[in-house]
Amino acid sequence: MCCDGTMFQIVRMQPGEVPARLGRLGLKIRCRDGEYYMEQPCSALREKRCTVYEQRPVRCRLFNCEQLGRVEKGETTEAEAMAMIVETRALVERVRDLIGQCGLREDGQALVERYERVVSTPVNPELEPELVAAREELEETMRKLKLQLSREFRLPPGAP
Ligand code: SF4
Repeated sequence: MCCDGTMFQIVRMQPGEVPARLGRLGLKIRCRDGEYYMEQPCSALREKRCTVYEQRPVRCRLFNCEQLGRVEKGETTEAEAMAMIVETRALVERVRDLIGQCGLREDGQALVERYERVVSTPVNPELEPELVAAREELEETMRKLKLQLSREFRLPPGAP
């Protein structure tokens, strides 16, 4: 979820990084207002593994999710962390499914961007009643997912 566009839309390049080198690895390096970043979902992700692990960007090396931190501190077990990941991934799959039901096909964009495109499109309840229920469930599921990601996976503000 850190790399597939669920948690992040972009990864900022850090001082000293060579964007061209990362671009040659096949990563989607972009530049806006002189700042380089990598688009998500990451093109180096294959079957939940990083294919450029030894050469991955600095931010990827620095980021540990909250579940990993809790396991390392002994605050939770690996099995409990894995159960939380499975539960959260089920929410992600439901959001993806509902986005599809709302008429947006998979297009390789980050989940939040796709979600925002769907909910910013007006729905006519008289002409598209089936879309109203799907849209409501989508909004509720996305609300739960965002809450879960921020409580269980992102570091609390101010954490090292
Ligand atoms: S480079 Fe590797 S670790 Fe970084 S976002 Fe892509 S798949 Fe994840």
